Amino acid sequence: MASTSETFTSIARVYRGTFVHSTQNAAVEILEDTILGVDTEGRIAFISTAAELGTLSKTWGFRISDVRHLGPRFFMPGLVDTHIHASQYSYSGTALDMPLLQWLNTYTFPTEVNYKDLDFAHDVYTKVVKRTLRNGTTAACYFATIYTDSSLLLGEIADKYGQRALVGKVCMDRNQAVPVYQESVDHSCKETKRFIGELLKRKYARVRPIVTPRFALSCSASLLGHLGEIAKNNDLHIQSHISETKDEVDLVKQLFPDSESYADVYHKHNLLTNKTVMAHACHLTDSELKLFKDTGTSIAHCPNSNISLCSGMLDVQRVLKHSVKLGLGTDVAGGYSPSMLDAIRRTLDTSKILSIQDPKHKALTFEEVFRLATLGGSEALSLHKQTGNFEVGKDFDALLINPVVSDSPFDVFPSEGPKVILEKFLNLGDDRNIEEVYVAGKKVIPFQQSE
Ligand SMILES: [Zn+2]
Repeated sequence: MASTSETFTSIARVYRGTFVHSTQNAAVEILEDTILGVDTEGRIAFISTAAELGTLSKTWGFRISDVRHLGPRFFMPGLVDTHIHASQYSYSGTALDMPLLQWLNTYTFPTEVNYKDLDFAHDVYTKVVKRTLRNGTTAACYFATIYTDSSLLLGEIADKYGQRALVGKVCMDRNQAVPVYQESVDHSCKETKRFIGELLKRKYARVRPIVTPRFALSCSASLLGHLGEIAKNNDLHIQSHISETKDEVDLVKQLFPDSESYADVYHKHNLLTNKTVMAHACHLTDSELKLFKDTGTSIAHCPNSNISLCSGMLDVQRVLKHSVKLGLGTDVAGGYSPSMLDAIRRTLDTSKILSIQDPKHKALTFEEVFRLATLGGSEALSLHKQTGNFEVGKDFDALLINPVVSDSPFDVFPSEGPKVILEKFLNLGDDRNIEEVYVAGKKVIPFQQSE
């Protein structure tokens, strides 16, 4: 029996039923007829077999009649989206007909200019936060835009709906294609500091700022250097993009001739740390992966985007062999789906395509990908002390899955055990199966706000 009864807090809720999660030792651990207690702070107070119910009820002072039985439902940890552009959500599902650099100039930059307008931002940001929460994303690592006030608004909306979020005001001082959408180095640094100061001052429980240079092609060495310093001085998270396409890698080489590699451009400016997450990384060399491992930098794998923009295919097995932390991301809107279930499916597809191309490549299993979408994501964002699985002391970030809901998109048969049902949900399920979503013990789906 695991519990934290030494430091006494009172119990808010107790559940009895099936819990599915990942641990360091098991990609999928299924705990049947298990009791889990959530304290008034939203943390997991205990998790134990049902045989301990009487003892637990005495130790923690809850009534056995108050225990909620899950029946055919099960709890799994909330999904962690390690890379999503909230500001691109308005055109998700469209504009997938160009490679990255043209795509940015044609669709992305002209759209992001609109976020000067707070009403426009309020509408899109509310919709993306609600849509991702409804699809089980309990933690999201967001890119906003270069505009500080609307980026603060994204933080406010994530907090209002109860999503755990890292929010980044985007920084960029190079943009030949859409010159109106860039900043001077001074302005970018000043506004980044204002963004961080303002967001921290608001003391949101689970929304934090993240330093966000867009990527090396959009930033001068001077800007990268200042942002590295700001992150270091404030001990902040960092996010950016790396080696998404080969064209981009070639251009970075031309723009930063003094750097040994793309990763070295960021490393030189103190931007690779154990709180850094870099999206894509499709074309990293072995020595760059080693640098990621040595600095603790993690990768956000965004397979829908990589396929949709024909960018490349990340070999996740190779990344894991280098002991680099890795989570999954939707990369809305280069990735067309805001659902992490889609990221799980596209990760499996990409791994299988790599096996078709090279039979020696060992495809990832659904269990391994489940871990990447939950515990792996929490590690990639350095949030693993707070979330990622059902360990005592962590926040209760969880999805209540109903595999037999009346309009379920899949069918369950009597002979099927919980692992098969989990696999069906991951491959065939959707938000209809996600009955309730909890972040730090608070029920955030169904929505509590009347909007
Ligand atoms: Zn991205």
